Amino acid sequence: MSSSEPELEIDLCAIGWNFRVLTALTAATVSAVVKSDAYGLGLEAVAGGLAVAGCRSYFVADLSEAEKLRRILPRAAIYVLAPDYAADPTPYHERRLVPVCNSLEDATCAALSAERASYAVNLETGFHRFGLTFDDVRRLAQTQTHFPTVALSHLACAETREAATNALQWNRFVSMCEILRPRGRSLGASAAIWLGRRFHFDIIRAGSALYGLKMPTVDPSPIRPVVRLRAPLVAVQTACAREAVGYGATFTTSRVTRIGTLALGYSHGFPFAAANRISVNIGPHQAPLIGRVAMEYVTVDLTDVPESLCRPGIGVEVIGPHLLIDDLARAAQTNPQEILLRLGAGCRRRYANSPVGAVEDQDR
Ligand SMILES: *Cc1c(COP(=O)(O)O)cnc(C)c1O
Repeated sequence: MSSSEPELEIDLCAIGWNFRVLTALTAATVSAVVKSDAYGLGLEAVAGGLAVAGCRSYFVADLSEAEKLRRILPRAAIYVLAPDYAADPTPYHERRLVPVCNSLEDATCAALSAERASYAVNLETGFHRFGLTFDDVRRLAQTQTHFPTVALSHLACAETREAATNALQWNRFVSMCEILRPRGRSLGASAAIWLGRRFHFDIIRAGSALYGLKMPTVDPSPIRPVVRLRAPLVAVQTACAREAVGYGATFTTSRVTRIGTLALGYSHGFPFAAANRISVNIGPHQAPLIGRVAMEYVTVDLTDVPESLCRPGIGVEVIGPHLLIDDLARAAQTNPQEILLRLGAGCRRRYANSPVGAVEDQDR
């Protein structure tokens, strides 16, 4: 690693592997959620890899992501989670994008479209963000003849097997679907795979598991980690005992200490809250983070790492087999999705193991 900035390595083969693992665990269609630039990992590269692995259906956040995806996947099913549909339905029809209608207004507009194009509805079953209520569903069914092709809803506590809200949301979802009779029903995201088959329905909307995030309740997990983070060591110095390190002097040396400075900070999406709480890897050796995380740099204690390995310019492994995204999230008291998104947006990305193979989606 010769550069002076951190690098996020994204293993496209591992994403494809995870897609196949999920597919093997369910009879439902596994649809890839690639919103927020594929959780920060790069929409085009990730979707390209998923298409080679056999993925034919995708959920994106908005119209601009949908248009990007349509350019590389001319035939895939593309669902838009937060459509601005009623304002201008034309681009949805032209590019065969399926709006996920979150309100009765949007659903009515889609039902009345002259093209009678497919649309999906989001049902309010207990998440209370947005979606059609029971009354909305009855009204839609009573006033329209063109019904949604897909109905979805989102579980609030899918990672907690015993949560009572799972059964409650399941019951409401099934009752609402009985009115609308959609061809495709979708209640679960990644975690629902492990909740039992009755939560799978026809489509699983998988994000986190594809990107290598572990489900806390699934151990051992068949999901493969997807990212590695390396940062270059840019300086090494020695401090006496009882010297303070970094902003706020939050760490004080207890011995003569070899201190390494890594080009990695919160400007790269590295969490400020991880200060003094994790270790990085240099070969087989661990070096604890000491002192605060600054905008462009962090400092590590290299005293127990052989001096011959502590050369400025070497790449230090921050996220890898020794420390997963999930571990870093726990240390920083946040969720792994936020860490992934911020690192993906803040670091230079490098794709490893680009899969080779025919993308069947391509127009023949
Ligand atoms: C983000 C999102 C998903 C994906 O969730 P994961 O837990 O990351 O698999 C699924 N459905 C909806 C509606 C979402 O917003």
